[in-house]
Amino acid sequence: MTTNDWGSIYKEMGAKPVVNATGSVTLLGGSTPVAEVKAAMDAADSAYIPLIELEQVAGDRIAEMLGVPAAYITSGAGSALTLATAAFMAGTDDAKIEQLPDTTGMPNEILIQKRQRYWYDRCLELAGAKLVEYGDENGTTEDDLRNAITDRTAAVHQVMYEQNPVDPNVLTLEQVIAITHAAGKPVSVDAAGQIYPLENFGKYVKMGADFQCIAAKYMGAPHSTGFALGTKEVIDAISRHSFVGYETRRIRGVGRPHKIDRQEIMGVVAAVQRWMTLNHEDRLSTAEGQSQAILKPLQGIPGITAELNTNIMGHQPFGVFITVDPDVVGFTVDDLVDKLRDGDPSIWTRVQDGRLVIHVFGLGEGQAELVGNAIAKIVKG
Ligand SMILES: *Cc1c(COP(=O)(O)O)cnc(C)c1O
Repeated sequence: MTTNDWGSIYKEMGAKPVVNATGSVTLLGGSTPVAEVKAAMDAADSAYIPLIELEQVAGDRIAEMLGVPAAYITSGAGSALTLATAAFMAGTDDAKIEQLPDTTGMPNEILIQKRQRYWYDRCLELAGAKLVEYGDENGTTEDDLRNAITDRTAAVHQVMYEQNPVDPNVLTLEQVIAITHAAGKPVSVDAAGQIYPLENFGKYVKMGADFQCIAAKYMGAPHSTGFALGTKEVIDAISRHSFVGYETRRIRGVGRPHKIDRQEIMGVVAAVQRWMTLNHEDRLSTAEGQSQAILKPLQGIPGITAELNTNIMGHQPFGVFITVDPDVVGFTVDDLVDKLRDGDPSIWTRVQDGRLVIHVFGLGEGQAELVGNAIAKIVKG
């Protein structure tokens, strides 16, 4: 630890701070705003401003930086997903905006490939929509989608994880866009972490999707922020369903609880600006260096293999994969997670597909070495 007061504000209240070797996860507080973002948020304190105007100019600025038609800042990517479904169901009709989450008389089904069901798809239902699966656990055909689209369809949703190996058994976004648009329906994309390489940032809207979300938690903005990118039509509708629409237009939409403050709006603009002009080579090489620092004390220890995660796409580059041979070390990889969590300081990690998957996103200065040494000590016994 480089500072004496690591986590002291939490300790003073009797709460235990942890070392975050999991990465950008909401259960640990997700992200730490970068200096440029904090400066913008501080500067925003000095004056009040009508949020309907601020949302407009901030959205315009982000849209211009990314080269997409329109953008809207929300309280997280999850909020953008909910507001987008509201927009797909009720559009800009004020009576319908006020009727949600009762969807009587509106198209209210969001189609999703069975194999693409995921943790955040619940956000697609919160404005009153229903998720309807198409395809099955083995895969999806183009006819599955053609047959699934009906008058009740509000939108077809696709999730993009370009850092993962492509699932050959799902329809591609190109296929989904072509078939869905031919049927006159809009396409929604969750691209929360698709911010690097920069050509992927906003890419799906450029490919023809009507909407995509981005999680600003992944780019040094406040953890509670995100934004929608999309066509002018969809973004205009999202703004009408938002908390700003509720307060300014006096139209009581479902977006009212999805509130953000003017400081956060300016923080997101600063985060996007920084991201578009950042030296990403430096960012990547720092993450690789931290990953190597974790690996160093783990070489040549019997019973574990530790290797570099070489992915640089998306929001969390590099990291470390660790496998444990219980016959040699006497405990499983899940036991290792528990032992790290129970240590002092408490180190949080997680297991995916039988491996410990470490990300350096949430590690402070000196913490990479600490994590590597803690693992080495536990495994050596
Ligand atoms: C984090 C995440 C979300 C939710 O974003 P919030 O900004 O936390 O609401 C949605 N989808 C994916 C793929 C994510 O990684």
